[in-house]
Amino acid sequence: MAITFKGGIHPPENKHLSEKKAIEILPPPQEVFVLLSQHTGAPAKPIVKKGDKVRMGQKIGEAAGFISANVHSPVSGTVKKIDDVPHFTGKFSPAIVIENDGEDTPAEELTPHSDWQNLPRDEFAKIAAEAGIVGMGGAMFPTNVKLSPPKDKPIDNVIINGAECEPYLTADHRAMLEFPEKIIEGTQMIAYALGAERIIIGIENNKLDAVARMTEAAQGKNIEVIAVKTKYPQGAEKQLINALTGREVPSGGLPFDVGCYVQNVGTAMALRDAVVEGKPLIERITTVSGTIVAEPKNLLVRVGTPIKNLLDAAGGTNGEIGKVISGGPMMGLAQWTLETPVTKGTSGVLFFPPEDAKLGEETNCILCASCVDICPMRLMPTTIAHQAKAGNFEIAKKLGAMDCIECGSCSYVCPANIKLLHYIRWAKSEIRKMK
Ligand code: SF4
Ligand code: SF4
Repeated sequence: MAITFKGGIHPPENKHLSEKKAIEILPPPQEVFVLLSQHTGAPAKPIVKKGDKVRMGQKIGEAAGFISANVHSPVSGTVKKIDDVPHFTGKFSPAIVIENDGEDTPAEELTPHSDWQNLPRDEFAKIAAEAGIVGMGGAMFPTNVKLSPPKDKPIDNVIINGAECEPYLTADHRAMLEFPEKIIEGTQMIAYALGAERIIIGIENNKLDAVARMTEAAQGKNIEVIAVKTKYPQGAEKQLINALTGREVPSGGLPFDVGCYVQNVGTAMALRDAVVEGKPLIERITTVSGTIVAEPKNLLVRVGTPIKNLLDAAGGTNGEIGKVISGGPMMGLAQWTLETPVTKGTSGVLFFPPEDAKLGEETNCILCASCVDICPMRLMPTTIAHQAKAGNFEIAKKLGAMDCIECGSCSYVCPANIKLLHYIRWAKSEIRKMK
């Protein structure tokens, strides 16, 4: 029996819509919208102005703090303006708008290193910072910060996350099938940079072709490729660590507290491309899917491309659009416009009909305990939500609200349609304010 974590759910996978579709290159649009905030932390500071000519891969926004990230131009062209555009979180946010000259004239800002085995270990964090690499599984945490754990927290396990547990998404699956050698090389770099002894690639067992390809590519490289049980949220950091190593990240702790480092497969590949090819993070693989998309696809997309262009490339929809999600259906965010640009963390864009947008009416809790049984963090979602509704945020905190990984499993299983995650998120934000 495949290994896994305690709790979790089995929503319909719906990966069949796109898992067999080879990655296609989406030509960049006439105009790109490069958000300055497409990572955890402070927005990047623009270092270009209206009228400037830029090259593809040129740094146009500089990290504005320890937790921040550089942004680069995904095309060559002219800076048209710096203006607020729709952000995937639902707000408006500043972006550098570039008119594409169609030439893709490259910048040569990063030095390629084919002999990376001779680089000092701390060089990889510097390259990741310069290349603007962030976690591409959706968290968008700056990779250079992760690659620099505190000195008293040695890492002995590097885990590469190929679980891709969100329904519909197949971008990582295709990357593992089509670029396994690149992912393996990026994985080796991470392990070398951190001095880790054990290297594991965890893949859900609904992707056995990817397990086979990655195992083949990892031959003789001291890397274990392990199939884990298909269950949501298997790809969450703490759950993957637990399944693969048996270790438990303590409440309020981080993976390095148990000697682990977790990175998504796409990020490992981006690091490899930055080191070996001198390529900053300006494009990513994104799944376009959902029940009404005419031709679901996996596209290699330049950052800053409006999601409308992705839908057009997938042949549009077979009916009225009722709901658009950036990311997966469980943890992704609903979009109100198709003008939202793709970011470094856009793993997918999903389209559903109006009937899927309707929320069931919330009724009283029937004390079925389903939410408690499935919570992967072993919390009591119903009790935390109840305390949040009553404004008892101190009690919600004591009940472990801050440990909630916001996987949405509790809301998914609740027969009373209680928006448990909504209340828990609210409690978390109030607890942060109390701090
Ligand atoms: S309480 Fe948080 S971690 Fe637990 S199931 Fe709900 S959303 Fe997931
Ligand atoms: S799943 Fe819903 S109805 Fe059941 S205990 Fe939790 S909150 Fe109550």
